Amino acid sequence: MGTTFESIFRSAFAIIEEIEQHGGEAYIVGGSVRDYLSGSEVGDIDIASSEPPERIQEIFEKVIPVGIEHGTVLVRYGGESYEITTYRTEKGYQDYRHPDEVTFVRDINEDLARRDFTMNAIAMDRYGQIVDPYKGRKAIENKEINAVGNPTERFQEDPLRMMRAVRFASQLNFFIESRTKLSILKQAELLSHISIERIAEETIKLYKGKGFKLGLKLITDLGLKPYLPQLNKIDLIKTIPYISLQTWPEVIAYYTSEYSEAGVKEWVKGWKLSKRSQRNAEALLEGLLEYERNSKLTPWLLYQLPSHLYPSFARLIRARTKMDDHILQKIEKEILHLPIQARKDLAFQPKDLLLLYPDHPKGPWISETMEKLEYAVVTSVVPNEFEKIKEWVSKWNPPANS
Ligand code: ATP
Ligand code: MG
Repeated sequence: MGTTFESIFRSAFAIIEEIEQHGGEAYIVGGSVRDYLSGSEVGDIDIASSEPPERIQEIFEKVIPVGIEHGTVLVRYGGESYEITTYRTEKGYQDYRHPDEVTFVRDINEDLARRDFTMNAIAMDRYGQIVDPYKGRKAIENKEINAVGNPTERFQEDPLRMMRAVRFASQLNFFIESRTKLSILKQAELLSHISIERIAEETIKLYKGKGFKLGLKLITDLGLKPYLPQLNKIDLIKTIPYISLQTWPEVIAYYTSEYSEAGVKEWVKGWKLSKRSQRNAEALLEGLLEYERNSKLTPWLLYQLPSHLYPSFARLIRARTKMDDHILQKIEKEILHLPIQARKDLAFQPKDLLLLYPDHPKGPWISETMEKLEYAVVTSVVPNEFEKIKEWVSKWNPPANS
């Protein structure tokens, strides 16, 4: 293994060869070519082919039809997935959402023409030869984001491309070329026609990018901010995080902890995120507020935070306070020193409580007492030992009828 040209693209080249042996043509296209040429880490590898999806399904064994109507299938090969999309053009876009028609074509150049930016409109064959009709390589060298063709028309076809431009600026630390930039500024309003789910995908990629400060500045300067729920009420420059945030729950906890009037629920609703995102955002927010109240990691905070959120929480704290590069290690170390890890670890359980108060009828007092006990043990007010807890509970004497 390694990260050489050969090892990155080996399977993709084998797929292309296979297609060629069946009389077709195929190229690696899009982000992976761009990232390879700019020396960045290559993510998903997308392939464009002259062959229609039905042909691809015949050629390969494991094919998942993820978007047949747009010409896209997923091929499993060498333990990896590759999206193969038939060369196509798009016309129409009268509703700003979907092209009126997708036409399959036989020429890679026609396919490259429908792509958003010149850096994304480069194709590479299985010998590493480049097809680059829009000088995308030059743009990459200059760290420039250029619309393919007339930017005004291209943004009218699909206004999401305006968000894509700023997210690529953040992700790659590139500049948006001035004509392209100006046409965003002039027609940012078109973003109002785009579904919030699509905008959310680009927005979180912007926050994740190493150039997120530049990205947030562009959002503001180019007039895209009004179309971003909740973020549109915040000064994105004055509230800039110290480090990049990686998930929606982090972004939401970050803003709702201080800069937003709205709560987690309103953010989740505005961006149409999942219930799961909401739960995670709530847990992160609660932890962050507890951290800020105490200016440190408290045992109760650590106890309450689900372990899958440690990395998110560590990033949040660094995004807020700058200091504490080692916060994650600290969390992971201190968590081990907690008196208990979960309620089931308590040396005193509800049955013991009932034995202690045989005359009390069952009721909410049981769970209320257990909650107080849990807090007392976690915060070391009482040691987690049966006799000590019994003594503590007896002294505390729960009410008979609450
Ligand atoms: P990354 O995967 O690193 O986020 P990418 O360039 O692969 O970046 P994708 O969203 O995966 O971005 O799209 C793959 C390719 O499809 C792009 O490189 C571009 O050529 C084309 N593309 C995607 N979305 C659009 C769009 N809205 N308009 C035109 N072309 C697009
Ligand atoms: Mg991609």
